[in-house]
Amino acid sequence: MAVQTVATTNESAGSTGSVDLGPASGLSCRECGERFDLGPIFACEVCFGPLEVAYDVPSGDPEALRARIESGPENIWRYAPLLPVPADVADKPNLNPGWTKLVQADNLARELGVEAGKLFVKDDSGNPTHSFKDRVVAQALEAARAFGYTTLSCSSTGNLAGAVGAAAARAGLRSCVFIPHDLEQGKVVMAAVYGGELVGIEGNYDDVNRFCSELIGDPAGEGWGFVNVNLRPYYAEGSKTLAYEICEQLGWRLPDQIVIPIASGSQLTKIDKGLQELIKLGLVEDKPYKIFGAQAEGCSPVSVAFKAGHDVVKPQKPDTIAKSLAIGNPADGPYVLDICRRTGGAVEDVTDEQIVDAIKLLARTEGIFTETAGGTTLGVAKKLIEAGEIDPSLTTVVVNTGDGLKTLDAVAPTTGMTAVIRPNLDSFREAGLA
Ligand SMILES: *Cc1c(COP(=O)(O)O)cnc(C)c1O
Ligand SMILES: [Zn+2]
Repeated sequence: MAVQTVATTNESAGSTGSVDLGPASGLSCRECGERFDLGPIFACEVCFGPLEVAYDVPSGDPEALRARIESGPENIWRYAPLLPVPADVADKPNLNPGWTKLVQADNLARELGVEAGKLFVKDDSGNPTHSFKDRVVAQALEAARAFGYTTLSCSSTGNLAGAVGAAAARAGLRSCVFIPHDLEQGKVVMAAVYGGELVGIEGNYDDVNRFCSELIGDPAGEGWGFVNVNLRPYYAEGSKTLAYEICEQLGWRLPDQIVIPIASGSQLTKIDKGLQELIKLGLVEDKPYKIFGAQAEGCSPVSVAFKAGHDVVKPQKPDTIAKSLAIGNPADGPYVLDICRRTGGAVEDVTDEQIVDAIKLLARTEGIFTETAGGTTLGVAKKLIEAGEIDPSLTTVVVNTGDGLKTLDAVAPTTGMTAVIRPNLDSFREAGLA
């Protein structure tokens, strides 16, 4: 396998010398293909298109690569040869996320009319800060180290702020993160408890994001690595590990159908990139798969564009309980449309009520308590199964990206004690529970 170190000069972070991000060989523009050296840049100087990490693709025997992965650690670093991280990444202080459970959801399958053994939940609530964001932050942290940043930052809908706070604490870096001021208490506490600075912005996520872009261009933001802005190309690669894990856990097989939530759309596009890489590397059989995207009706710019047959995504002002998905102007929206159309999938949305119902359905059938994002994803999966767009006889994976403990308010009004009784048997019988 070719793992090459690329020497590059990085002026904006004030450090010079060689940047070792393992197999990453540079950045390439997703629009015009222009190549750039590895650095803290995210937009093409030629066409302003978004940049993504380019690799020296490992060549050689797929069996050897598979054996190497299988003997690796039980976290995302088992895939280090396919990620923009140095070879010794597993020895550095980080949260070692990933290798979360792929749950065969037979009870849920029965309720939804899916063939037994064909429905799976990839449960990313099992990550260190209880959302899939630990995967992406772990990549951005390595890039931040490589570029000499001492402060980690982000614009967040909640989960990312917590993941950045925790990763920075573990790595011994400063963190200062930005969120909309009106997030769920669970998200705010999770973002604050790791001891970094947490700033609430009076506005929605799109306002927060715009502010962060301004801060990057200002001396006040010098030396700051914004994981999802100037480190975004590296950050985004972390979502590929979801694809790798799903396939490995299925016995090195591609799923037929996969349902993924959409906020900025980064995760969905990189899961597709991960699946494509596994095919190219010969680690899975090359066969068609369909990708489905999930949004809440109250923030459904990609779903609306998909249904209208548009290539561009018209921004919305979000109003939904699925706050972790409430990005009204999703950066990767057009790429999501492309992927869902190319693979024969779809983008669909569900109401807040359907989100709550789906949260309870998953808890009741499989003992998994998901947050509103997971409720959105499962709600959309259910809707698409009922509509006949998802084939119930094929292998389907629903991605659960976060933990219900962070969004208790969504289900609190419709859950509670069955009865309150006096501590004696008569009272118990009276309540009709015997
Ligand atoms: C951030 C997030 C997503 C998806 O984010 P993208 O911006 O689309 O990559 C999904 N679920 C949860 C819980 C999240 O926090
Ligand atoms: Zn370009």
